[in-house]
Formats: sequence, C-alpha cells, structure tokens
Amino acid sequence: MSEILDAVLAGASPETLAELPMATTTRAVFVRRDEQHMFEGLSSAEKDPRKSLHVDEVPVPELAPDEVYVAVMASSINFNTVWTSIFEPLSTFGFLDRLAKESIWGARHALDYHVVGSDASGVVLRAGSMVRNWKVGDEVTVHCNYVDDQDPSSHDDSMLASNQRIWGFETNFGGLADVCVVKANQLMPKPTHLTWEEAAVNALCNSTAYRMLISHNGAPVSEGDKVLIWGASGGLGAFAVQHVLNSGGIPVGVVSNDAKAKLLRDLGCEHVINREEQGYRFWIDEHTQDESEWRRLGKDIRALVGSDPDIVFEHPGRQTMGASVFVAKRGGTIVTCAATSGYMIEYDNRHLWMRLKTIKGSHFANYREAWSANQAIVDGRVVPPLSAVFPLEGTGEAAFEVHHNRHEGKIGVLCLAPKEGLGVSDPALRARVGEDRLRVFRRASEG
Ligand code: NAP
Repeated sequence: MSEILDAVLAGASPETLAELPMATTTRAVFVRRDEQHMFEGLSSAEKDPRKSLHVDEVPVPELAPDEVYVAVMASSINFNTVWTSIFEPLSTFGFLDRLAKESIWGARHALDYHVVGSDASGVVLRAGSMVRNWKVGDEVTVHCNYVDDQDPSSHDDSMLASNQRIWGFETNFGGLADVCVVKANQLMPKPTHLTWEEAAVNALCNSTAYRMLISHNGAPVSEGDKVLIWGASGGLGAFAVQHVLNSGGIPVGVVSNDAKAKLLRDLGCEHVINREEQGYRFWIDEHTQDESEWRRLGKDIRALVGSDPDIVFEHPGRQTMGASVFVAKRGGTIVTCAATSGYMIEYDNRHLWMRLKTIKGSHFANYREAWSANQAIVDGRVVPPLSAVFPLEGTGEAAFEVHHNRHEGKIGVLCLAPKEGLGVSDPALRARVGEDRLRVFRRASEG
C-alpha cells in the first residue's frame, strides 16, 4: 500500500497508478461473525463499539466487472456503523448471507468478518471491464446506494429495487479501510476545494437529507416553508438545515445543549430550540405520552416562527414521533428516515387524519439524488459538517462518541491520508467558499 499511497500523494499519472501492483491485503475495520452475540443481555448504552470494531489486515477480494477498487484516503462514521458494531437491531451478517445467495459475486460478501463504512473519498485504483465512466486515477467520493439494474422497479427510482442495499452496512468491503470495493455507479466526483477528510463525510447524510427535503420523492421544501429539524446539528440535521436555507425555507433546529445551539446559529439557522433546556417530557412512562408536552413544543415553535411547521424532519423515532405528528401543520408532512430511539412508533392518529397530514418514509437516495446532493458540495452551496478527525485505528472510539451523542455534525476518519489538510486541488474555490464557513463545525468542537 505504501507504494500506492506515495504515488497518490505525488499526483502520479493514471498510467503510473495502473502499473503499480495491486495490494492483495488491506487494513480494514470490521466486526467478527464469532462475536455477533458478545453483547447479549446488555443494554444498548452498555454495548461498546470499541470492543467489537477491530482493525487488521484482510484480503482484498476479486473485482467484479461493474466494480472499482478505491484507494480510500478518508472515510467517516455513520450511525449505521454504530448499529453494526452493537449488533442492533440485528447482526449485519444476516445481510451478507442473503447477498451471498444472489450471485457468484454476491457470494464474496459472506465472510467471517464484515468490513464496515458507508462513506469514502479516494482515488480509483482499478476499474472492472464493464466500467465506462470512470478510470484509474479519478478522484472520487462514494455514495452508499448498492443496486443492480436487473430489477424493473429500479429504473424509476433505484431506491425501489427489491435488492437495494446500503454499501458497508448491508454489504461487505466498506469504506473504513485502505482499499474498498464499490460499484461504478456509486462514484461521484470529489469536490476539488475540500480536503480528503472533508470530502469523505458528506455522501451518506447529505444525500439522505437531499431526498427527504429537496427531491420530489421526499417532502420538497418551498420558499417560506417552516421546517422543524430534530437533531439539527447532528449528521443528517447539519445537511437538512443547509438544504432548507438554500431553498428559501425557514429551519427550526432542535438540539440538546447551548454549544450546539450556537453552532446552528453560526450555520445560519436563526431559530433554535434547546430540548434539554425546555425539558420536554413527551413520555410519562414507557407506555404513555403526554399531549400537553406536544402542545408546549408546538407553542414554542409558533413563538419562534409564527405558525406550525409545514414539514417535520424526523429520525429520532419513538421518543419524538408523537410530538412530530402533533406539531406538523394542517396538511403538513412528517418525513422520516430512521428511529434512533426505537422503531415501534406511537402517535395519535386523530391528529394525522383530521388534520390531513402525511407521514412520508424515506431512505438514502438514488444515484441522481446523490449526484445532485454532491453537486451542492462541489459548488460550495453546502459545506461539510466535519467536527473531528480520528485515525483508522481510532474508529471504535469515534463510533463510541457517536453512539453516546457526544459529537457534532460528522466525524471523519483518516485511512490512507497520512495527515489532515491534504487533497485540495482548487484553493481559489476554497477561498471563495470561505475557510470560516468550511470550519464552522471544527471550530465548535475545538471550543
Ligand atoms: P447523529 O449524528 O447521531 O445525529 C442525530 C441527532 O439526533 C443527535 O445529534 C441528537 O441531537 C438527536 N437525537 C438523538 N436522540 C434523540 C432523541 N431521543 N430525541 C430527540 N433528538 C435526538 O446521527 P445521524 O447521522 O443524523 O443519524 C440519525 C439517525 O438516522 C440514525 O438512526 C441513523 O441510523 C439514521 N439514518 C438513516 C438514513 C437512511 O437512509 N434511512 C441515513 C442516515 C442516517 P440533540 O441531542 O442535539 O438533540
């Protein structure tokens, strides 16, 4: 790998890169099949990613004709790596075993280890024989929608394909490694004004927020729309806020401390609710919700922006869904992509039907949506919410931070990149976007 890294850092030509021998093994972060029951009997909070995420050399698999090897310069922590590392809601080895039944290429994925990671920035090292639009040496970011084109449904919206998967979560050979394997239709151009680690933290969360709030497949924001955003300084929320602002909407960001509230204001989100300060208790006990607390949240939103939210950006799930359905305006939409606090949801259906509201399910993004979301980063319209950077060996620690909600925005992970700050090829664009804007989350985490 060191020869490959030296060549990438020296800006070697595609010909030179192509001539270098391909690595047969790679450093990678993985969970082990024989440890998938290691946390049984523990609460979620007690399950420790630092114990289950290992870093070691693993073999580089054979390349399928529609795939490329990417020399990964940087990757990021997504919540799905937390899920994999605590084996919740189920072990991801089941996903790999199902994929293995699909084809001979799918069979490569069912191993005794699962290499995780659903984001990456890097350089194409080799391209399979069917790859048309990408070549060795291309600087890329990777989105995580893993689909084939042999399902008719995928030709309208690839997220509807029956075998749609999330790379590095429902497939093996993910981005938290020095070399990853991806389908060519996961590649997107790396934003030239960003460092490797800034470029690596966007694709998963940015594309998801884009589909939820910009695409016609989600709940597209119109000028003047008020949008309640839970976890507004978290991975998804940081992108949601920027997309709402760029669309002329009015975000109301919910966070859980003052530092995050300040961060949001620095990002341009004027209206912020600190949920800890307000002390909302939507649940009286495990089975009972308190409508008066939903009402209190609704009043707080009206006090800030004058009316009920047109759209609620949902992902905390069980803890907040009742409140989200209640506070959405008459005819409004609750768009949801997750359920961090529990997926068995309860809300008062009367508030949904009598007030003609819609709950819209959303999941990642199709290639077009991911590409458009990436373009917003490429143009500098959306900035990466990178708050901290860990070495690959520190992935367990980084996932622990995310598991315990101790982070802001996104955590980057250096894979082949030997240090931070490398990879910018358009400093003039970087200057135009502004170092200050690019470092909003970094500054906040540095205090
Ligand atoms: P994240 O970086 O941890 O941010 C989530 C934010 O939610 C936190 O910053 C926290 O903000 C807030 N939060 C957590 N628990 C909460 C609760 N009980 N009530 C209210 N707010 C709460 O995670 P993320 O990357 O944004 O992902 C969030 C969820 O979406 C995860 O479950 C993830 O797996 C899922 N996801 C799904 C997709 C998809 O395609 N379906 C894509 C990306 C992520 P405060 O504490 O500041 O309020």
